[in-house]
Amino acid sequence: MERRIQIDSASTVEEVRVVVAAWVEIHVPESWRAAATRGLDEIRRVRSRQDYEAWYPEFATSGLAVPTWPTAYCGLGVTNAVARVIDDALRPYNLGRLNPLGLNSVAPALFAHGTEAQRSRYLGPIVRNEERWCQLLSEPGAGSDLASLATRAVRDGDTWVLDGQKVWTTWAHISEFAICLARTDPTVAKRSGLTYFIVDLNSSGVEVRPLRHMGGEVDFNEVFLDSVHVPDSQRIGAEGDGWRVAASSLAGERQMVSGSSSGGVDRIGGRGIDEFITRCRNRGPITDKLTRQKLVALYSQESVRHWTNQRLRADKTGPIDASGAASLGKVDQGSLNQLTQMHIVDSLGMDAVAWLEPERARMAEADRYAKGLPLEVRAMLRSRANTIEGGTSEINKNAIGERVLGLAREPDIWAQAPWQEIPR
Ligand SMILES: Cc1cc2nc3c(=O)[nH]c(=O)nc-3n(C[C@H](O)[C@H](O)[C@H](O)COP(=O)(O)OP(=O)(O)OC[C@H]3O[C@@H](n4cnc5c(N)ncnc54)[C@H](O)[C@@H]3O)c2cc1C
Repeated sequence: MERRIQIDSASTVEEVRVVVAAWVEIHVPESWRAAATRGLDEIRRVRSRQDYEAWYPEFATSGLAVPTWPTAYCGLGVTNAVARVIDDALRPYNLGRLNPLGLNSVAPALFAHGTEAQRSRYLGPIVRNEERWCQLLSEPGAGSDLASLATRAVRDGDTWVLDGQKVWTTWAHISEFAICLARTDPTVAKRSGLTYFIVDLNSSGVEVRPLRHMGGEVDFNEVFLDSVHVPDSQRIGAEGDGWRVAASSLAGERQMVSGSSSGGVDRIGGRGIDEFITRCRNRGPITDKLTRQKLVALYSQESVRHWTNQRLRADKTGPIDASGAASLGKVDQGSLNQLTQMHIVDSLGMDAVAWLEPERARMAEADRYAKGLPLEVRAMLRSRANTIEGGTSEINKNAIGERVLGLAREPDIWAQAPWQEIPR
């Protein structure tokens, strides 16, 4: 039976809304739909993460999870404009996309540089969240200057042998696959000697060591590669072209954070500004002048961000290319989300400092205190990373200077030197 929803780029806004509403009525469980009428907190209360993951293939196979993707790869092949109508219609039900790095970082590289065999093999399981992905880019000695990385890949017939250490690898501990940037030619300039690979994390020689961040949770890891064998068929793009392939992943990740992609992610972790305003209102009339000023300032910044993203999505032929746009949005959204989460925690007053023991927390309010401290505090602590992950704000500002404002490139005396001659 065809499970894909019947929408195409010729569908009118009204037709899209009707078809999506009919799909929701049949496929979204009744209790979730009822909760949606009472807001996001209520959805969180009735719908556990496990429930959502178990139900998720229903969403993925409808095409609604990646509406702009071609129909051959679980999408609907519709325009960004139609995708936005779909997202607006689904928004009340909070149907977040799982496997965000697979969707936003791996898929752009596969679409732009992968082979048909790679796309057919990997994209479907990414969309259905059957195979989860992470990205092996940063190393202890290579973060902002990613092109200086030292992980080696040496060819041995039809196989590559990878050795090195990666760090800050988000979700490596729960992923099946990774994209990996490795050095295949140390004798040429640092950006020229890199190649992009797909690494099966269950391969012999891969060791994942979890790192705990300041919120107390494990999100990212160190990953050690010790003589890991990768078939040449798992190379994405040409040998030596890894820098260009990685750029498509990085732009995808930055678009995901900025909300300017068409993939449905409109914002990053923590509560949004609308939700914050509703919460404040629910406590009674907002009479405190400082609170009112903060809310208006946040609301204005959020509106500007939203309109800028709308403009960037609509004007694909405008003066700003996709990667410049991704950097703009990433810088803006990273700092705005930090400010928002900080104000939300401020608004909790003493509740924000009420650390609860996990056992007591479970009894008090299961979801909100699930990890021993309030959800809002966890979101605020996590938001500190928003201006670092996916390239720091400083690095993205450099990119904006070069790609959007047309300023001179940042000087790098080692840019053309053979990598093996650069002091490390
Ligand atoms: C939560 C989180 C998740 C992450 N997930 C992943 C992941 O899944 N995979 C992955 O590969 N990496 C991941 N990273 C790593 C991330 O991409 C790097 O932390 C980031 O690129 C910065 O590199 P660095 O930490 O080595 O800092 P450095 O490069 O050492 O930078 C230190 C400081 O110097 C500044 N700086 C450096 N160079 C310049 C310059 N030229 N001009 C101006 N300022 C400069 C930086 O902005 C920063 O403030 C993650 C990081 C975080 C925090």
